[in-house]
Amino acid sequence: MNLFSQIKAAVTTRQAAEYYGLKVSRNGMTCCPFHQDKHPSMKVDERYYCFGCHQTGDVIDFVSRLFSLTPYQAARKLAEDFGLHPSPSNAAALPVPTRQPAESAREQEKRCVSVLTAYEQLLKNWKACYTPLNPEADWDARYITACALLPQISYMLECLTSADAAERAWMADELQHDQTLEKISRILTDHAVDDAGMAA
Ligand SMILES: [Zn+2]
Repeated sequence: MNLFSQIKAAVTTRQAAEYYGLKVSRNGMTCCPFHQDKHPSMKVDERYYCFGCHQTGDVIDFVSRLFSLTPYQAARKLAEDFGLHPSPSNAAALPVPTRQPAESAREQEKRCVSVLTAYEQLLKNWKACYTPLNPEADWDARYITACALLPQISYMLECLTSADAAERAWMADELQHDQTLEKISRILTDHAVDDAGMAA
């Protein structure tokens, strides 16, 4: 489990909102911190959704907007403030394997970055194209997927491009260990055709 999943499993957006000083009513409504909101129009539970400005996302997304942080920094902040111990620092403490891998660590990281960058673009297209037109409308599955996954993908990309060597290697390893990279590659192939027109 990476830092991102650990935090989402442990902290709801509602808990974070309350922790960072927002007043949340019993039914989970609060004044939206992302637009001039006089009457509570944001619903917070696991995720958040504002009926005024339509901002939505998960707890990492919420904290990154609230404090103008990258998803990676927001995840770190939440881990610190809620006393969670992220696995990257544990992974960094593990002994480095001495066996020479077939693909160099740098090559692995580059491959992860190129797949994730393409996936991030696909999700951004989905998020832009399938935004619900009003709160009552049914949410397109692609919109929900994009909202749920974008912060995580951004976090992984940031980790792969700007974290220290131990953390980059850990992330590249994690992506390949549980076949995540292969799954994403398949999704990209499957959607290459039906989304070709969308990007144009
Ligand atoms: Zn709002």
